[in-house]
Amino acid sequence: MRFTAVAIGLTTTALLGLTAVTPVLGKSATPCLVVYVSNEAEVDREVQRKAVALAEVIFANAGVKTQWRIAPKTGSAAFEDGSIHIRLLHGPVNEDSVSSRALASAMMREGKQVRVYWNRVQRHTETSFVLAYVMAHEITHLLQGVARHAKTGIMKAYWEWEDFEAMQGNAVQMRPVRPLLFEREDLALIREGLRQRLVR
Ligand SMILES: [Zn+2]
Repeated sequence: MRFTAVAIGLTTTALLGLTAVTPVLGKSATPCLVVYVSNEAEVDREVQRKAVALAEVIFANAGVKTQWRIAPKTGSAAFEDGSIHIRLLHGPVNEDSVSSRALASAMMREGKQVRVYWNRVQRHTETSFVLAYVMAHEITHLLQGVARHAKTGIMKAYWEWEDFEAMQGNAVQMRPVRPLLFEREDLALIREGLRQRLVR
């Protein structure tokens, strides 16, 4: 499966924020990863909108088209095949069960769910930038299907001070000054994982 180039920039979906509309994709459409978000931590809508817009651009730059939707209240039975569910939680159910440096977790076994710990993301400034990169990192774990980290960039195990500095920038234009990137191997694993996920 080949990926067509995706224009860099915010799409209409991103500008409007999350959508509950389900467009019908024709067979010739670019493969699209559907991401559902449930805002269980009552994250500010504007912060969430900006984070989704940036995460969409991060994946577009990696050749992955994403479509972001509000998670249906009826539960995961209503989710599309191959989709990913991001739960924005107040924090871990048990703080001690998750490394104190982790901002989120990907449920690798089922390969479908990401849990973001808002109490931890919130400690950083410019939370929308951090939230975008956290979602991108954890979604990538699920796409790749393997527990691996890169030495640099989005898939680094733990971001350090300079990484947080780099991912933040111009809040008005929602463009990090020095965006974190995927390494070459990350991109290859993402493409392979996405191909498998969407033909299931
Ligand atoms: Zn990780």
